[in-house]
Amino acid sequence: MIRFIPACLVLVAAAARADDSGAGALTLNDVAAGRADIVDLSYSLDARTNFWPGEKYEPFTLETIATLEKDGVLSKTMRLPEHIGTHIDAPNHFERDQPGVDQIAPRDLIGPGVVIDITPQAETDADYGLTIDDIAAWEQEHGRIPKGAIVLLRTGWGRFWSMPERFQGRDALGGLHFPAYTGEAARLLIHERGVRGLGVDTLSIDRGVSKTFEVHHIVNAAGRYGLENVAALERLPPRGVTLIVAPMKIESGTGGPTRIFAVLPQR
Ligand SMILES: [Zn+2]
Repeated sequence: MIRFIPACLVLVAAAARADDSGAGALTLNDVAAGRADIVDLSYSLDARTNFWPGEKYEPFTLETIATLEKDGVLSKTMRLPEHIGTHIDAPNHFERDQPGVDQIAPRDLIGPGVVIDITPQAETDADYGLTIDDIAAWEQEHGRIPKGAIVLLRTGWGRFWSMPERFQGRDALGGLHFPAYTGEAARLLIHERGVRGLGVDTLSIDRGVSKTFEVHHIVNAAGRYGLENVAALERLPPRGVTLIVAPMKIESGTGGPTRIFAVLPQR
């Protein structure tokens, strides 16, 4: 029988695997049955977790408030800024009259993931920003970025995660130097590709040297979100994954710690 499968059916199957639906032919039943790889793209929160080095921001703290020995139950309480570790920037972070983190529609938090790797460029220029030429080169090789994609920018900065000064790229004057998006790239991705959100493995979707936070404004003005300090991007292929973005639901929050899962066919 197998010898007589029409060629067109084979083509349809191949097209289904290469389509825009993220993990392609994987179904939710496959995922539920354990027939998928799931990569955790979030860092754990602890006292050393990186956060935006702004005034009044503070490290994560966790205090034990009940113990098994004394209370028969182990329980803790925590204190943290919204923008710490792997987190989302809600649309209200930089723009008025935009939704807070609790108002982002669940359907906007699941979508096909795209990974654009600028590690080689960032290697020689810590201030590097993704260009529209980089996007064109990626699309030349992998096809057009699908509408509704969640774009993850891999800069290689993940390897500095446990070195805060290096991760921030601090210079002698206290300035920050780490790669991210340029405004022109953000505009193209948001307005011409219609992506759901922009993520990055550094502290900010704007470069460390940015003073205007242009990318934040472009993303948030369009009602879209950012994802910062995204982990483990070296474990993902350029496309063919589905991302599940699950932020803490803080009423009117401007962001919050976020668990991000990448679902992909078993390798
Ligand atoms: Zn943020």
